[in-house]
Amino acid sequence: MSSSRPLYVTQPALPPLREFMPYLEQIWDARMLTNAGPFHARFEAALGEYLGVEHLALFANGTLALITALQALRITGEVITTPYSFVATAHSLLWNGIKPVFVDVDPVTLNLDPARIEAAITPQTTAILAVHVYGHPCDLDAIERIADTYNLKVIYDAAHAFGARVGGRSLVDHGDLSVLSFHATKVFNTFEGGAIICPDARTKQRIDRLKNFGFVDEVTVVAPGINGKMNEFCAALGLLQLEHVDAALARRAELARIYRAAIDEIPGLRCHPDPVPEGANHAYFPIMVESAYPIDRDALYQRFKARDIHARRYFYPLISAFPMYRGLPSAQPDLLPNAVRAAEQVLCLPLYPDLEAEDQARVIAVLQEAGDGDA
Ligand SMILES: *Cc1c(COP(=O)(O)O)cnc(C)c1O
Repeated sequence: MSSSRPLYVTQPALPPLREFMPYLEQIWDARMLTNAGPFHARFEAALGEYLGVEHLALFANGTLALITALQALRITGEVITTPYSFVATAHSLLWNGIKPVFVDVDPVTLNLDPARIEAAITPQTTAILAVHVYGHPCDLDAIERIADTYNLKVIYDAAHAFGARVGGRSLVDHGDLSVLSFHATKVFNTFEGGAIICPDARTKQRIDRLKNFGFVDEVTVVAPGINGKMNEFCAALGLLQLEHVDAALARRAELARIYRAAIDEIPGLRCHPDPVPEGANHAYFPIMVESAYPIDRDALYQRFKARDIHARRYFYPLISAFPMYRGLPSAQPDLLPNAVRAAEQVLCLPLYPDLEAEDQARVIAVLQEAGDGDA
């Protein structure tokens, strides 16, 4: 029975339902469903404490948070970004009427390559929108140096980076703004949700207005803001999820260790990145299927699928290959060789706190059999 159950790349972590019932009763009693209610306030404070940041603004989802982050900093013109991400990264630029300029990724980290950023800067460039892909940190120092030199803002799409740390500090505590997603597929979820980490109370106030249509008070609207508010249900769930997230992160690390030990023995497969950076959150388990492996990435993906194991090709296709981007000069594949190769070689394996040992063993067995050249 267990040998045939379908496996997905992720399975959302949820607390026991009985733990959530008292929260629901409070919402029903208070009849405060959204608009900065009591759970919104409590979750915002508790999340700030957990992440070790003073100022943050909760959102209905990560995409609205990205769109609002760009609006809050008044970003215009051109923004340098990565083709190797989820499509929402670049879409947030288009929603602001900004032209994305794609720059290739570093072949080792798969994050935006700082050495290629300067050549892409023009008089229209106003910011860098970088992504901590799979929760692994960008080259923070190099990006900051470039931003300082050319007077650019830095926004980090930290959708994968919940709980990740770098140099003893929360990874989301970097850049002018950092944006989190609490979508169901992420390390930490509120069904749907997101947040902007910001440097000071004034910026938070501006963001809080922008996520509520631009309202300042009952009769004053100061900007064309959007509806980005997190509701009380999601905020209450987030508050409860915080109690369980450390255990979830520990379990992810344990499963990742088991994958690594097995995959290190299989020629042609490489864990990404190798070694895993200190403070990693193990949000994903990407492997690179290289030419020494008997079958290519897509054949391996299909072989998994035939066994009801739904690994994912994050990130294929590249953002720069989608129709609304591929006409841009910076989207040409020959300018993005490292991103193109990663999009062809990466496969993300099932990884989530409830992944059972026997199911993980099934995944590893497929990798070993295909590696031995078994049909
Ligand atoms: C999930 C994700 C987003 C979007 O977040 P949502 O909460 O789903 O809107 C943005 N960027 C990256 C890199 C993501 O993985």
